Amino acid sequence: MNSRVFFVFLTLFLFAFLAEANDGVDRYHEGKTAQFRHLYAPLSEKEGFTVLAEDMAGGADGAPDFRWARSFPITVIRLTAFETAREMGTCPYPMAIFDMTTEYGDTPVSRLEGKPPRGRHPGGSHDGGVNIDLGYYLTSLKGLYSDPDYSACDEHYSSTQTDEEGLPADVYECMGPANRLDKERQSYFFLQLFKMHVKPFNYMLLESVGVDYHVKKAVMDQLRKWQAEGMYEITDDLLHEMDSIMTCARWEGWAKFHHHHTHVRFHDLSTSGEFRRIFNKLEEDERQMELVIQQELYPEQDAFIKAELLSYNLNRCLELRLLSDKMSDIVKAEYQLEQGDWISSEEPGNNFRCIIDIPRIIPYPEQTLLVRAKYEDTEGKAVEIQREIYVPAQKAQDKIRIEKDKIRAHYETIQENDAVIWECTVEYPEHFNYYITEINYVFYIRETPEKPAKIKPEGNGRKIRFIQPEDRNVEMIEAEITLTARMRFSIPVYIAIN
Ligand SMILES: [Zn+2]
Repeated sequence: MNSRVFFVFLTLFLFAFLAEANDGVDRYHEGKTAQFRHLYAPLSEKEGFTVLAEDMAGGADGAPDFRWARSFPITVIRLTAFETAREMGTCPYPMAIFDMTTEYGDTPVSRLEGKPPRGRHPGGSHDGGVNIDLGYYLTSLKGLYSDPDYSACDEHYSSTQTDEEGLPADVYECMGPANRLDKERQSYFFLQLFKMHVKPFNYMLLESVGVDYHVKKAVMDQLRKWQAEGMYEITDDLLHEMDSIMTCARWEGWAKFHHHHTHVRFHDLSTSGEFRRIFNKLEEDERQMELVIQQELYPEQDAFIKAELLSYNLNRCLELRLLSDKMSDIVKAEYQLEQGDWISSEEPGNNFRCIIDIPRIIPYPEQTLLVRAKYEDTEGKAVEIQREIYVPAQKAQDKIRIEKDKIRAHYETIQENDAVIWECTVEYPEHFNYYITEINYVFYIRETPEKPAKIKPEGNGRKIRFIQPEDRNVEMIEAEITLTARMRFSIPVYIAIN
């Protein structure tokens, strides 16, 4: 096989794999719904990460609607960022958390007024709450042609092409060294993440980590330098693992768009299986981390509220707990959401955990909710504390999920004079149009070296007519459906069975 054929083969193979998922479909969905947790913002700069106020030019994501994930990746990232800030100190441009997953477990889609929907990432790539984009730790945001520029390198521009403003066109890939990367912090962050992957997760935490080639090079160089200096207990095995999991492979689609972020794909681990005790320990570490941060934020308080927004099949609730280093002094606790009833915690041994449902109002407006907690100590003294929690918008369309077997294709052949005419159409639930951006019918003619004919219905229609070339037979017809301009899959309309 020559290399060109091999490349095409690999591309097709990859596409076939990805075609199992698309925007509108969660590729991890297997009949059971996963529980997601929302990440709004760090509690303080001590957390060692940040979020952007909004989507930035050049593709740096900030929309809070798309920061849902399974709970464990959030725990892992928060702990790792916190440890990085603890060891290396806080900094002006820490890692920014970009897009994760939508609340419905799917890859985020931009819906700008008057424009067709567009997937913010390759179809399926941000599904399942186990895919997180992380901006890099940077030393400056001042780019060659824009400020802020979240890229790790100055040189991510074409030397021949220009954009609409006549400036060199962005190629979304470092063309030179990662000169604005905060090498030490970035390397330390990856080191902690991979140490967790190797032990306690026994190489099962991370599936792949997409990075720009020049960022990977800078990080690996820094880690080898530290290893030579005997710092941070860096083994050859760990470096080898990092080298194989951190990918910038072009044919897999990792080479581009990672100049300003790394895509961390976690394994879709069960939290009740063999890793249950490890997850419990990490959650305990996360509570300890929050306690330290809240103690610093509210020094006048003895106890604090830990509040997490959770969503299961788009039903939302708040998971509330008390944090205190004088936990044994607390005898009971109750919570109130806004003006609702006070609800008692029934789990004293579990930080007085309490779940309060959030009413399902559609559409749900983006808002900040107030949570109060009242606790009583051993001497009968009652104390009331409160905190706010951000809740993103929810809309009816979040429920839409494209199921391929609900798309039905039909054909009819009509004889007109000497010509054979094929009429084809597809039927599907009307709300699928929320994601469908294009339909094409592809005609394969038997024993012809020509490329198959691709026919697009007029306007927003679904129906086409095709006149069969004289003395030739149609071997196969496929309806090719495109979702959010990013993902295509095919439905057979007609297959010859001669
Ligand atoms: Zn990504």
